[in-house]
Amino acid sequence: MPDMRRRLGSAPLHTKILVMMVLGAVGGLLAQVLSPGGSKNKTLEFFNDVIAQNVGALFMTMIFMVVVPLLFSALVNGVAEVGSAAKFGKMGLRALALTLVLSSIAVGIGLVGVNAVKPGAGIDAAKRAELYQAVDKEGALAKANVAQETTDPPLLGVVPKNPLLEAVRALSGGLLPLMFFAIVFGIALSKTAPEDALPVTSFLSGLFHVCVKMIDMAMKLAPIGVFCLVFRTASVLGGDAFLSLAKYMILVLVALAIHFFVTYPLALKFIARRNPLDFMRQMRTVIVTAFATSSSNATLPVALKVSEEEAGIPRHVGSFVLTIGATANQNGTALFEGITILFLAQFFDVDLNLGQQLIVMGLAIVAGIGTAGVPGGAWPMIAAILVRFEIPAEAIGLILGIDRILDMSRTVLNVIGDATIAACVARFEGDGIEVAEAAMG
Ligand code: ASP
Repeated sequence: MPDMRRRLGSAPLHTKILVMMVLGAVGGLLAQVLSPGGSKNKTLEFFNDVIAQNVGALFMTMIFMVVVPLLFSALVNGVAEVGSAAKFGKMGLRALALTLVLSSIAVGIGLVGVNAVKPGAGIDAAKRAELYQAVDKEGALAKANVAQETTDPPLLGVVPKNPLLEAVRALSGGLLPLMFFAIVFGIALSKTAPEDALPVTSFLSGLFHVCVKMIDMAMKLAPIGVFCLVFRTASVLGGDAFLSLAKYMILVLVALAIHFFVTYPLALKFIARRNPLDFMRQMRTVIVTAFATSSSNATLPVALKVSEEEAGIPRHVGSFVLTIGATANQNGTALFEGITILFLAQFFDVDLNLGQQLIVMGLAIVAGIGTAGVPGGAWPMIAAILVRFEIPAEAIGLILGIDRILDMSRTVLNVIGDATIAACVARFEGDGIEVAEAAMG
């Protein structure tokens, strides 16, 4: 036993989270079955509502705390980098257009899939109410409404009069206006003279790195936080929750596979005029590195080398498109965020109409730009978007336990999406055509 504990103690974080999730699930299910009175058992209720709920909430709050500075710094710098793309003339505009098209297709695949499969539907309404009775939804909503009434609402719900006010209420409806401000700020930053922009860019990039460190620190609590959140869910909802979770996981993997095996090859064949199979073969080291590290940033050096040496993408194209793409083009993450938000909305029976789903789609595309290219980078964005739609964000504890494999998979798409765009852009860069044709044999 002590040996096992020592081994688990030195295991990677994602293994610890997975183990604690399984323990939480098994423990919660057993507690429900074995306690006299099931989930209504007084001792179990005490443990769930006083201990599990609070420890879980502590972990989630540590993540929420970082959302505003992280989102702002990542989005401004991401947009400023994309904005500087315009300075690179046609190459930049082509890369930008392809980024938007591929991200939209990715999110579209996710949304169609999640609406067709409905992995989160079918949770018993009474049990769901029991699970979330402790989350004061009405109270929080009422407070959010008061905040809205006493201040000028943003124009069209998007354009803020006072961005600081939106930052203050970012987790109760101010997210979209805050993102809008960050986007405009980022565009302006890219148009500012370099010597004036530099202090702002370096401050924001420093702020971003500090926020990423804070997320790392919060993630140290993840194993115990996930245990508590999953235990509580399992002891109230029973097996249904895990059936939904399994369907969700398969859906994410299938949707990622469709984007990888259909959308990218089509872009490679018809825009880049390359043989998709050869291209993927050339990219195999990049694929393996992205999968192993779960980080677009960590994969960047390998992607730069391989795209030039193996795939023949000219260096000026590769270094431009891949570097910007590592922070600002996250196809796999955008797809994942869309599915996850709608899955949790189904799970908690939050009805999102078509218009709201389109907002989720837009937010997922923008969130793809603002997501840090690090393991788990998607989560602060997801947490913030969930709160905007009044979906209990504590629920992400459920998914965190299985996130590593999803993270590894979506990171592959993030990086190969950048490489695909680089190959497409290279084709129009003159020198890329010969290389591409030579590569096709
Ligand atoms: N791990 C992803 C990346 O680095 C980001 C995320 O989706 O969490 O690209």
